[in-house]
Amino acid sequence: MVLKGRKMRIDIITVLPDLLESPLNHSIVKRAREKGLVEINLINLRDFSKDKYRTVDDYAFGGGAGMVMMIEPVFRAIEKLRKERNYDEIIYTSPDGERFSQKMANMLSLRENILILAGHYKGIDQRIRDNLITREISIGDYVLSGGEIPAAVITDAIVRLIPGAMSDEQSALSDSFQDDLLAPPVYTRPAEFNGWKVPDILLSGNTAGIEKWRHEQSLERTRNLRPGLSDDE
Ligand code: SAH
Repeated sequence: MVLKGRKMRIDIITVLPDLLESPLNHSIVKRAREKGLVEINLINLRDFSKDKYRTVDDYAFGGGAGMVMMIEPVFRAIEKLRKERNYDEIIYTSPDGERFSQKMANMLSLRENILILAGHYKGIDQRIRDNLITREISIGDYVLSGGEIPAAVITDAIVRLIPGAMSDEQSALSDSFQDDLLAPPVYTRPAEFNGWKVPDILLSGNTAGIEKWRHEQSLERTRNLRPGLSDDE
């Protein structure tokens, strides 16, 4: 259950705060921030480096290509933030993490304080993962250059679920994956374009009939495009 007047907070630790500025400053996420439903803070990991070059990466023990995100700056950043508040989750974005899903977004949207650590380079020192991280999330089986885009994806999916973030709350409920179903097709004016017609039922004004049609379309799409969707985790 969501408490009224509750404000969610999402903090993101990153080496590239600029990369995250724009994706979190448009559309529903922007409005949710303006309405005070969520506070999103970008924390520059380099501010927690102690050397004059603001270094946050180092060579991998054992050799091999690629740099590793160092333990100390990440530790200092997390410690500072944890002194200020309790986090319900400290998430690390990682291709080998649990696959992100609408179910996970629903669950995370009920939390109060979330901290996301965006990785970079070859990844972070494993000891951070072992000792400080509560949840590891992958946005899919491919490798990106950094955790910023995954952090933006996760944040966007969560924030649009906060009650009040969307103008019509029902519209979150009718999206794909809620209820393990894909969304039905949608149409707008004109009713006919180029000889391509909108299904008659949608123009009929028959609300119950429209509901029934939409539900059938959802079932059919799910059967055809994503059979087994309800078994996916
Ligand atoms: N060497 C790592 C990949 C490093 S990619 C490996 O093979 O697993 C650099 C960073 O990008 C990662 O630390 C992670 O934070 C982020 N990242 C890359 N792909 C991702 C994905 N699919 N989901 C979530 N985070 C990802």
